[in-house]
Amino acid sequence: MGTATSRPARQLAMVFDLNKCLGCQSCSIACKTLWTDGPGMESMWWNIVNTMPGGGTPRDVFSHGGGYRDGQPVPGKFPAQREYGEAWDFDQQAVFSGSERIPLHPRERDGSTPSWGPNWDEDLGGGVYPDSFFFYLQQICANCSKPACLEACPREGLYRREEDGIILIDEERCNGYRFCAEACPYKRIYFNPQRAVAQKCIACYPRLEAGVAPACVRQCPGRVRHIDYMDNKEGHPHKLVNEWKVALPLRPDFGTEPNVFYVPPLAPSAFNEGGEFDDTKRRIPAEYLREMFGPGVDAALETIEREREKTTRGESSELMDILISRDWNKLMGPFTQNPAELIRPPVTR
Ligand code: SF4
Ligand code: SF4
Repeated sequence: MGTATSRPARQLAMVFDLNKCLGCQSCSIACKTLWTDGPGMESMWWNIVNTMPGGGTPRDVFSHGGGYRDGQPVPGKFPAQREYGEAWDFDQQAVFSGSERIPLHPRERDGSTPSWGPNWDEDLGGGVYPDSFFFYLQQICANCSKPACLEACPREGLYRREEDGIILIDEERCNGYRFCAEACPYKRIYFNPQRAVAQKCIACYPRLEAGVAPACVRQCPGRVRHIDYMDNKEGHPHKLVNEWKVALPLRPDFGTEPNVFYVPPLAPSAFNEGGEFDDTKRRIPAEYLREMFGPGVDAALETIEREREKTTRGESSELMDILISRDWNKLMGPFTQNPAELIRPPVTR
C-alpha cells in the first residue's frame, strides 16, 4: 500500500484520443452495468462522456476547487446530488399502454422536471456560427501521481497500489466525511448515501489482474482508449505521452499529475469572410485548448497535422498507425485476454 508521496513500482496509464470519440456512451454503460448497479449507486457514473465546451458532470465540473496550486492544497467543495444528475424516472407504463401518445419525458424522483444531468448539454458545443465546434471529453478517475483525494482523507481510507499506482478506497475505513470528494479537482469521487461511503472508478483492477482490459477500453467502438504501464517503452501511453508528446494531461494546472492523458481535438480551420477555410485560423480557440490541456497543446496539434500530411502523401507514420488503432489488440497493452474465454467459477446460490 502506497502513501500520497511514495511512487509505485509501476504506473498504469491511459490515453484517450478526443478525435475519435463518437459520444456513444458505450464506455459509460459498460462501466455502469459492471460496477455501479448496487444500492445507492443510481447516480454514479464512474465513467462519463460530456460535450465540451460544456458544463460537464457534475455541473461546471472544473469549478468546484480541489487539487493543488503552487504545491498547496486548494479548498474544494462537494457538489450536490442534483449537480451530478439524479437517477431519473420515466413513465414507461403510460407510453406503452396509454391510449394517447405520451412523450417519454424524464422526471426527478420528486416528480419535478430535471434541470441537470450527465452530458446535459450534449452536442451544444461552442463557437459562433459558422465556426461552431464541439468535442467529447471522457472522464474517469485518473489515478493521479499526486492524488489530492488520498492526501485529504484523515483516516487513510484511500490507498495506492504498489504494483500499478491504482488509487482505491477502503470502504471499511471510509467514514463518509467526503473530504476526498472535495479535494479531487476532477470530481471523480461519488458519495453513496445509502451506505455512507465514498466510491469511485477502480480501473477494473479485477479484470486487469486476469489480463483483461477495463470494460470502457474493451467496449469502445471508436478505439479511443489506449492502456499500458508507462514504463513499457513500446506501449502506446509511453509513445504518445513521452515520445510523440501528443497526449496531454487534462487541466494540468490542478496539480495532481493525472495518469489519464488526452490527444487534443483537431478541428477543421475557421472560415474567412468569403466562406472559405482559412488555414491560418484554428476553429477551436487556442486559449481554450491551452486552458484544458496546458501549453503543450499547440505543439501537439502541429505534430498530429504534420504526421497526418505524411500519410496523405503516402509516407508511413508510426504516430498515425498508433492513433488509427489499426491493430485493436495493441490498444490494450498487456491486457488482451478475452473475458469470454475465462473460466468462470460456479455460481453458488
Ligand atoms: S482523479 Fe480525483 S479521485 Fe482520481 S486519483 Fe486523481 S484526485 Fe483522486
Ligand atoms: S465508448 Fe468510446 S467512442 Fe463511445 S463514448 Fe466512450 S470513448 Fe467515446
